[in-house]
Amino acid sequence: MTDPEDLVERVRDGELRLHELEDHADHDTAAEARRLLLERETETELEAIGDYAFPAEAAEPNIENMIGAAQVPMGVVGPVPVSGGAATGDHYLPLATTEGALLASVNRGLGVIRSAGGADARVTKNGMTRAPVFRVAGVAEAAETVEWVNENGDALAEAAESTTSHGELIDVEPYVVGDSVYLRFAYDTKDAMGMNMATIATGEACEIVEAETPADLVALSGNLCSDKKPAAINAVEGRGRSVTADAVIPGELVEERLHTTPEAIAEANTRKNLTGSAKAGSLGFNAHAANVVAAAFLATGQDEAQVVEAANAITTMDARENEDGTTDLYASVSLASLEVGTVGGGTKLPTQAEALEVLGLRGGGDPPGSNADALAEIIAVGALAGELSLLGALSSRHLASAHEDLGR
Ligand code: NAP
Repeated sequence: MTDPEDLVERVRDGELRLHELEDHADHDTAAEARRLLLERETETELEAIGDYAFPAEAAEPNIENMIGAAQVPMGVVGPVPVSGGAATGDHYLPLATTEGALLASVNRGLGVIRSAGGADARVTKNGMTRAPVFRVAGVAEAAETVEWVNENGDALAEAAESTTSHGELIDVEPYVVGDSVYLRFAYDTKDAMGMNMATIATGEACEIVEAETPADLVALSGNLCSDKKPAAINAVEGRGRSVTADAVIPGELVEERLHTTPEAIAEANTRKNLTGSAKAGSLGFNAHAANVVAAAFLATGQDEAQVVEAANAITTMDARENEDGTTDLYASVSLASLEVGTVGGGTKLPTQAEALEVLGLRGGGDPPGSNADALAEIIAVGALAGELSLLGALSSRHLASAHEDLGR
């Protein structure tokens, strides 16, 4: 076994570079050597960072220059009662966060949803996108390229799908801006979040576009995809899973458990999430969907930078009058671009795989795509619970005291 001190010396002598250590030692020794170097250079002790619970080799596809692990506390909420297109029954949802009061708040919302008989959830659209940008001489060539693309969907699908045994090309939407042509490819990536899959498949399809049209590829991603940037196109057209969760909460329950009324929650939602967000020029019209999305992403190994678009949600709350004079609260959350997977990426890491196991959604689904659909539905119900609880707290005016009690 290689001595980490030996690696440290060789790096210091300029014989080895920091990223080359795995070529000369096992992954854990390489990580230890990097920690030693860093500790000496920065006069720190990295005991906690080095105290990780999985073989470093398991993280090889996910990280370079590994020194250890950032350990984020993980808790659980639930059961989450879902009647979905893919998820049914009760599921515990692991959430990783450092925000005190978050899980307590989501659990409060889930308790209300459970007492109301559960939530419905459905994935209403599914398509992971990649949008390469091409250069043309001007609009005449742009139109020629668009026409060819519109008439040759089958050829594009054949090329794209030759690179994957799971992915299916659903659509190619062309956009023209001056002498640039953007082709927004959308794929059903089944249980994979699909960004690598879609990128590889689109690369193959681009070769035919270049061969058959005057267009020259400039970049495989032309930002109309749009990955990891806040963008209206994802909010309107969707990306990954577009998913909605809703529930009808009897007014009595709202009063007993949230200490407010359906009318007060509906008003808070309109003035805050809709009007306030519109005035702010916000892309999202919700209270804190990002909280549940981000915590679920960290726990289950999703790509955390995609919280940017995955938390793009509209929350609606309406007071519905019943014939018997009582009032119910209709509550919904629609996440336009929730990019999730149960295979690939960070889902294979041991702690994240265990979290998916808790959900009963580790690995590929039967049929393919059903596990990722179910994960999207469960996260949506979790987000709905978070919205309900926070709006309840705001309309009963005890938000500050809840944070004081639980978060400090
Ligand atoms: P991946 O880890 O690259 O690949 C997942 C692969 O799993 C699929 O391509 C598929 O192989 C296989 N697979 C097995 N069972 C499957 C099932 N039931 N459903 C779907 N696929 C199944 O994962 P990815 O989701 O495509 O990409 C996620 C990674 O992309 C993350 O690590 C993320 O950080 C990274 N990322 C990349 C980019 C980029 O531009 N390239 C951008 C953002 C994020 P076959 O295709 O052979 O069928």
